[in-house]
Amino acid sequence: MLRRFASTAAASQASDLPRVSSRGQLHSTLSRLMDLIVNSLYSNKEVFQRELNSNASDALDKLRFLAVTEPGLLKDGGDLHIRIQADKDHGTITITDSGIGMTRQDLVDCLGTIAQSGTAKFLKALKDAGADSNLIGQFGVGFYSAFLVSERVEVSTKSPKSDKQFVWELGRIDPAKLIPRGTRLTLYLKRDDKGFAHPERIEKLMKNYSQFASFPIYTWQEKG
Ligand code: ADP
Ligand code: MG
Repeated sequence: MLRRFASTAAASQASDLPRVSSRGQLHSTLSRLMDLIVNSLYSNKEVFQRELNSNASDALDKLRFLAVTEPGLLKDGGDLHIRIQADKDHGTITITDSGIGMTRQDLVDCLGTIAQSGTAKFLKALKDAGADSNLIGQFGVGFYSAFLVSERVEVSTKSPKSDKQFVWELGRIDPAKLIPRGTRLTLYLKRDDKGFAHPERIEKLMKNYSQFASFPIYTWQEKG
């Protein structure tokens, strides 16, 4: 069942922290950051929906903006939209956008490495301010809020600037052949959080967090 969801994603929050691109100690840094986020924001785990919607919305904004001068970027077809699929039988949520996607280098720069200095500052801010769900967006680590509810997160992505598609999982990047353009996040929910894969729950969250989006958001149930 496919249906259009009326409201849209929250405004994104810019990070003013520098991004440091480094492959060394990647896995341990990411694990540390994940632990940090999960432990600090445990009581605000619903923020994942806001952060991931806002990333999808940003990706669509970027594509729409670039396509003004480079209309060829839209040649892979498809309108600009966000699609959310909840599969309660498998305990997964899939968030797909037809936005700008990521090249291999983007994956390394944007998801693969969290600025080490950023992690330290984030930790300090958490200590100073307490577990405030807004911090996660301010520090440019919104993507990692997915791990509040997920034991695994798979990111499949295709930039219109590259022929290649990739799948990313915790810093590991492999070739993929999955989507024409944009990004698909598959959240494999933790056992205690599988309830988020109920379509009614997703729609309720969307109402809470998605008020200013300028793109259609569709929700789709695996089984009706
Ligand atoms: P922020 O959004 O504040 O930059 P995030 O951790 O939420 O921090 O995302 C990090 C970066 O990863 C984004 O800036 C963007 O470059 C990239 N990214 C995340 N999600 C997507 C997406 N759905 N499509 C394209 N790029 C994305
Ligand atoms: Mg973000």
